[in-house]
Amino acid sequence: MTIERSPFHVLVAGGSYAGLAAVLNLLDLCNGHPCRFSANTKTSESYPRIPVRITLVDERDGFYHLIGAPLALASMEYAEKAWIKFTDIPALQTPAIKLIQGSVVAIDPENKRAKIREHGTRRTIRKQYDYFIAASGLRRQWPTVPRSLKRDDYVAEIKKHLQQLDRATHGVTVIGGGAVGIEMASELKLVQPHQSVTLIHSRSRLLSSEALPDETKDRALSLIHDAGVKTIMNTRVTKIEEPESESDATVLTLSDGNALKTGFVINAISKYTPSATYLPDKALDEAGYVKIHPNLQLDSDIPNAEYHYAAGDIASWPGIKRCGAAMHHGHYAAVNIHQTMLQSALGTTPEFLQLNRDVPPMMGLAVGSQAVSYTPSGGTAWGEDVSKLYFGDDLGFEICWNYMKLSKPAENPSEPVT
Ligand SMILES: Cc1cc2nc3c(=O)[nH]c(=O)nc-3n(C[C@H](O)[C@H](O)[C@H](O)COP(=O)(O)OP(=O)(O)OC[C@H]3O[C@@H](n4cnc5c(N)ncnc54)[C@H](O)[C@@H]3O)c2cc1C
Repeated sequence: MTIERSPFHVLVAGGSYAGLAAVLNLLDLCNGHPCRFSANTKTSESYPRIPVRITLVDERDGFYHLIGAPLALASMEYAEKAWIKFTDIPALQTPAIKLIQGSVVAIDPENKRAKIREHGTRRTIRKQYDYFIAASGLRRQWPTVPRSLKRDDYVAEIKKHLQQLDRATHGVTVIGGGAVGIEMASELKLVQPHQSVTLIHSRSRLLSSEALPDETKDRALSLIHDAGVKTIMNTRVTKIEEPESESDATVLTLSDGNALKTGFVINAISKYTPSATYLPDKALDEAGYVKIHPNLQLDSDIPNAEYHYAAGDIASWPGIKRCGAAMHHGHYAAVNIHQTMLQSALGTTPEFLQLNRDVPPMMGLAVGSQAVSYTPSGGTAWGEDVSKLYFGDDLGFEICWNYMKLSKPAENPSEPVT
């Protein structure tokens, strides 16, 4: 059965884990199928077909597997695999999905209207929508994320970075012993074992800002030593003196009074800010994250809050920011939007999926050929089998790709495209 009505228009800001999960699960449901993440939820039912048009806006021209960034910074072959243009993702190739490379710059919830700045042309597109999903994550800095917005530019950017690493005859120093710094240092050493790699961290324990047990943090330190990375703990870099010529070393002045000569510095001190500046201030918490209810609808008194959702890193929700959580949010947002579409078309009562507010700390961290993980039930686990379980052979690329079923060709809508 197909519901006869004009299509619902859904606008999604951000085409990464949360955004893709929302778009693809919603499309499944509107096509009348159980959604692709439906295992163990009531969403494994079938439904009438609902006409829908989804506009997916992303600043990049493709999906960037952010988890793989530390390996992409060490291996050209992997870097090329980690960024797939949206036009090359089979699951997105349907007239029901319109792709725009650009930035959502303003949302007017009262009139359900968005302003989008198209990349390249800088043309402003005004878009009317029925539902909006904020899935635009956190703004992070190079080298944690590429600066480039187009795949070709990104490949050139990584090439240049790898050439700089090749010239680093005095070794490489990574500053910052959080998850990103640990992975950057250990992936580099794994791929380029000849390179001398040093990690400097300002605290006595790695992962010092994470709410994880000391045992997990101490295990991360021993694994990074197993990986062949040297560490300097409890020490800050107070000055970086760039070399006068390419063959000279960069000199780092350290807070303990010592100096360290190095060939190349990678700054992995995580600086990030939420990206939802396009929403009214009232929709955001003090840190700029989007306030949501457990059903992912906006939790604020902005007009039409119930037609506005936020998913993934951008959402103000407890727990360590993780890609699994982002995909879970995207899934739930899709199911809940679909429930309200059914309500509007058939008068049914929506049954919302609700996020659990009690999210215990958990993490999987790749450290060279091994990984360390922490879950409340399993405690701290580590080793090569843990790495295989959490990351496969490619820092989780295939796991995420297959979970989102990105290779599965999209089903075309039966009704005419408007
Ligand atoms: C180096 C690194 C390693 C990590 N490793 C792990 C790991 O091993 N396991 C794990 O679970 N998590 C890991 N994480 C965390 C994980 O990557 C994030 O939790 C996840 O990316 C969040 O997904 P998201 O879809 O919410 O946002 P993001 O992945 O940040 O995606 C946001 C998207 O929105 C786009 N965008 C931003 N602003 C706008 C706008 N105004 N308009 C349109 N588009 C916009 C961006 O281009 C981007 O594509 C890691 C993070 C980093 C940085």
